[in-house]
Amino acid sequence: MYLEVGVDELVVELCRDLIRIDTSNPGDHSGPGERKAAEYVAEKLESVGIKTTLLESHSKRTSVIARIEGEDPSRDALLLHGHLDVVPAQASDWTHDPFSGEIADGCVWGRGAVDMKDMDAMILATVMDRARTGRKPKRDLVLAFLADEEAGGKFGAHWLVDNHPGLFEGCTEAVGEVGGFSLTVPGDRRLYLIETAEKGLAWMRLKAVGTAGHGSMVHSDNAVSELARAVARLGEHRFPIRLTKTVQRFLEQVCEAYGVEFDPRDPEACLPYLGSLARMIGATLRHTLNPTRLDAGYKVNVIPQEATAEVDGRFLPGLEKDFFEQVDALLGDKVTREFVHYDIAVETDFEGGIVGAMEEALTWADPGAIPVPYCLSGGTDAKSFAQLGMTCFGFAPLKLPPELDFSGMFHGVDERVPIDGLQFGARVLDRFLDHA
Ligand SMILES: [Zn+2]
Repeated sequence: MYLEVGVDELVVELCRDLIRIDTSNPGDHSGPGERKAAEYVAEKLESVGIKTTLLESHSKRTSVIARIEGEDPSRDALLLHGHLDVVPAQASDWTHDPFSGEIADGCVWGRGAVDMKDMDAMILATVMDRARTGRKPKRDLVLAFLADEEAGGKFGAHWLVDNHPGLFEGCTEAVGEVGGFSLTVPGDRRLYLIETAEKGLAWMRLKAVGTAGHGSMVHSDNAVSELARAVARLGEHRFPIRLTKTVQRFLEQVCEAYGVEFDPRDPEACLPYLGSLARMIGATLRHTLNPTRLDAGYKVNVIPQEATAEVDGRFLPGLEKDFFEQVDALLGDKVTREFVHYDIAVETDFEGGIVGAMEEALTWADPGAIPVPYCLSGGTDAKSFAQLGMTCFGFAPLKLPPELDFSGMFHGVDERVPIDGLQFGARVLDRFLDHA
């Protein structure tokens, strides 16, 4: 039935259907998993003659891979990837049920509307329409609809890269989230933020070991106090500003769009121009570290032998060593650290044929478009694919109304995507595949 409708209708239907399939991922396999969504995606692709492979790293942790032949199979292949899982949502907090895919106020509502069932739907709608009309992409395409991104990709992208690297053979570039969205600037122009860098991730468990004892006695070796001091030092530390090439270029272009001069000695002066994006971009000017958990003891009159805490650290590309030197100096010699989860930072230049194809497609669809590179403060599956040597970009094109708090939509309540933005995205992606 989908073949009867145009891409504009198709992309909206696919996005709504995907939202209705609950793929909440609490991070411990207790959720519904991605199998149903993976089967849905596979069925849609197979319906237009695209062969798919389903792979499971764990019961119901399902990813879908497909390969589409391009006009020139001798060229390197391009990977398009999206994750199928979403973070959980508490329905009572929402205006519309987060798993209903409801349409209201010109938007599709629901968990995953921007992170990232919108892009999954754009990829699907575009390749289905191209298959139906016999339009081959320029070069071979690999499609990956992935499990487990919201828990770090251990049972999704990382697992595939470690266990089935052959699926990505020949892929030199990868396109996924979080980028391609617009930020309105003066003169009816829009910056489109294309992700070319991501901070690295250091989730760490800290531990202090002292001497156990009775709470009534004189005691000088208390693990709880030791740990608390270290956590406070880390939490209050403000890492100095370090401008990476991506962040500097982005801020220069923001200033240019506002007709002001960029001052490298005061890069934070640019942040107010970014509106609600300032909190995310502000975190890419420096390393960050936030304490998130504390645990110690079992009874009020017992001094425990150890105390632990967890902290969420994010380091800038190229400056990992600098980050850990500062962390270790602040921890002191009585508190140790280990990784709960670690992942690399990535950064690539904003140049090459694929960037030209993104720029061309955006300015074709929006004459007021100014494509710019930026650094994401968080992480995506791009980290896994970078380990296979691919150059990674976040490019899920969306033309957004100026008033929408887009970064607040990610993992937020009332997540929603404007319908015309979604349709814009499918058109841009299709055009991009003509030239990429
Ligand atoms: Zn995401």
